[in-house]
Amino acid sequence: MTHYTVTFREDKCKGCELCISVCPKNILALRDTINIKGYHPAGVTDQDQCIGCCSCALSCPDGVIRIDAE
Ligand code: SF4
Ligand code: SF4
Repeated sequence: MTHYTVTFREDKCKGCELCISVCPKNILALRDTINIKGYHPAGVTDQDQCIGCCSCALSCPDGVIRIDAE
């Protein structure tokens, strides 16, 4: 089975939560940490549940998210 890895360029994230709202698996959330821009960046809570739909990456206005398949 294909495994997907979701990677965030955290320092570019503005915490708008768009990606979180579109994920069909509800595995994205804002992190407790603060990035260089002063926002809580988005991150993945359960990587193994990702189905690689790329909705998050396509929804992000700032190109923060990358999906890799293995
Ligand atoms: S690729 Fe799809 S399932 Fe995976 S984190 Fe993004 S929106 Fe969620
Ligand atoms: S859509 Fe992009 S900028 Fe907005 S919270 Fe998600 S990763 Fe961050």
